Amino acid sequence: MQPILSLRDVSYSYHNLKGETPALSHINLEISEGSFVAVVGPSGCGKSTLLSIIARLLAPEEGEVLYRGLSAKDYCADSALKIGYMLQRDHLFEWRTVYQNVILGLELTHNLTKENTDYILKLLEDYGLYGFKDKKPSELSGGMRQRAALIRTMAVHPDLLLLDEPFSALDFQTRLSVSADIANIIRSTGKTALLITHDLSEAITLADRVVVLSRRPAGIKREMTIRYEIGREDPLAVRGTAAYQTYFNQLWEVLTDDKTTA
Ligand code: ADP
Ligand code: MG
Repeated sequence: MQPILSLRDVSYSYHNLKGETPALSHINLEISEGSFVAVVGPSGCGKSTLLSIIARLLAPEEGEVLYRGLSAKDYCADSALKIGYMLQRDHLFEWRTVYQNVILGLELTHNLTKENTDYILKLLEDYGLYGFKDKKPSELSGGMRQRAALIRTMAVHPDLLLLDEPFSALDFQTRLSVSADIANIIRSTGKTALLITHDLSEAITLADRVVVLSRRPAGIKREMTIRYEIGREDPLAVRGTAAYQTYFNQLWEVLTDDKTTA
């Protein structure tokens, strides 16, 4: 089957008055439809840059990105792959209610139809936020805020979800349950997700495949398929398995051998 996303030999450098900062070096990556892929790498290695390229906020300097086999320039607006982007900070507007926040994308794109608002109300119900829809974001817990941010992202029916360290502002306990919760929601909708994280445990708990990046400029050091006999619903149970330990040890070795080569 045609991958939903292919990166072919993508390189990128930032240029400014102080000079050049190479951020990505010859990245080759294929993401199949419906998969949940985590990308891990040291801080500052180029992870967010990679997402910006995929989201077409930046154009690759070398190489190309194909969306269901088509390059960005061959794309017409109607057939374009819809990309949802969820960031570390939830960017909810405090002066708007939860409902007014989650419809924002639809409002801005003039898509506030009955069908779409019904869908939003269903998501609010499914994610346990219906009773909070008229509250302000400041009245929600950290986990609820992330769920609200996810609804806002899902509202525009994205084909591909880009998640840039969306859980890193949460405390450890909240993070464990919210990340599993959100990953289960994404999985149950069959969406394709690309999760950036610097937390190896999070990556191997949530994803079907983990891609390890090197230090800047980021290149791909290793890819690993992750499979568990048990389901993913309970993150603590997953973390207690022998398979989890093995994946962790193998990937930890790959991640940390940077220290000796840097
Ligand atoms: P990560 O998300 O892995 O922490 P980034 O992709 O944000 O890393 O950044 C990669 C490198 O590029 C970093 O060294 C960062 O300082 C640099 N960088 C990011 N954005 C810019 C920019 N707009 N101009 C110059 N350098 C940048
Ligand atoms: Mg980043």
